[in-house]
Amino acid sequence: MGIFDLDYPGPKRQTTIEYARKVVYRAIRTGRLVRGPCERRRRKDGCHGRIEGHHDDYERPLEVRWLCSKHHRQVDIETGKRTDEGASYSDSRGRAR
Ligand SMILES: [Zn+2]
Repeated sequence: MGIFDLDYPGPKRQTTIEYARKVVYRAIRTGRLVRGPCERRRRKDGCHGRIEGHHDDYERPLEVRWLCSKHHRQVDIETGKRTDEGASYSDSRGRAR
């Protein structure tokens, strides 16, 4: 049943996620991280969208995997961050518990 099956990201966790994203953004701007090609680009379903940084562990903000937005969503579903295609972080944040 979509987003309601996810562990609700509490304030602390949300802060960690936003912090990790900021660290990546800054690291790209300063050249410390270089955006790479999508790591699933050789799959025959093809890439779509912009390249995004994926965190396996938000506590390690500089350990990023590069994925196009389509494959990023696939990885999130595989790792249980999302349970369906429509769910997104902004949706979960905007809703009352
Ligand atoms: Zn891709």
